[in-house]
Amino acid sequence: MSHLPTPGDDALSEETGQHPPDKAGQSLRITEIFYSLQGEARTVGLPTVFVRLTGCPLRCVYCDTEYAFSGGELLDIAEIVRRVAGYRPRYVTVTGGEPLAQKNCLPLLAALCDAGYEVSLETGGAMSLEGVDERVVTVLDLKTPASGEMERNDYGNIPRLTPKDQVKFVICDRADYEWARFKLDEYRLVERVADVLFSPCHDRVEGRELAEWILADNLPVRFQLQLHKLLWHDEPGH
Ligand code: SF4
Repeated sequence: MSHLPTPGDDALSEETGQHPPDKAGQSLRITEIFYSLQGEARTVGLPTVFVRLTGCPLRCVYCDTEYAFSGGELLDIAEIVRRVAGYRPRYVTVTGGEPLAQKNCLPLLAALCDAGYEVSLETGGAMSLEGVDERVVTVLDLKTPASGEMERNDYGNIPRLTPKDQVKFVICDRADYEWARFKLDEYRLVERVADVLFSPCHDRVEGRELAEWILADNLPVRFQLQLHKLLWHDEPGH
């Protein structure tokens, strides 16, 4: 499902859904850079610096980062790397919004890898992974039917995933669960990536219910609750 234009969308190209590259080739619009515990995926619980890029071409019904759709601060890559270094992290996560909606996300990822961090990318499944630095761990969020954005999934990304990557499904209801289970088999995801993650959508399905479905079907997926939501709810900066 496509979305109605909202303030801030004007920076996105109608043709590609991406922000055009900065003329200097090295700047990105950033909503926030902060230090927190990783809330999900393989590095859950580990202190991590998050670089949240502004803008997203999707409008998932459950989105909890709408504040990142517009605004932000234009920063060049050297300044972003300098700010990240101030926290002296081991792990850095580039997130959004949809980080790949800005073309300069690719050189940013490479610069963070070059600086020696363990870098992960949280992406929503609609943008191509082509050109993502091979050192980056990608966490690909495949959008389910109840997200309202399933039709935007770019399945051309699946062959680009490598054994260090992860695929995530945010499950809103039983139909989402069945759909995710089908995708698991269709793309042989468990054999393809390090982890397949099933997360209950906050306020839409009980975590316990999803856990019981997984157990009843003996699915080899990782159930996860979003740690940052339990600790800090939806406060920006965490
Ligand atoms: S892809 Fe992520 S940031 Fe974009 S609308 Fe969906 S949940 Fe929100």
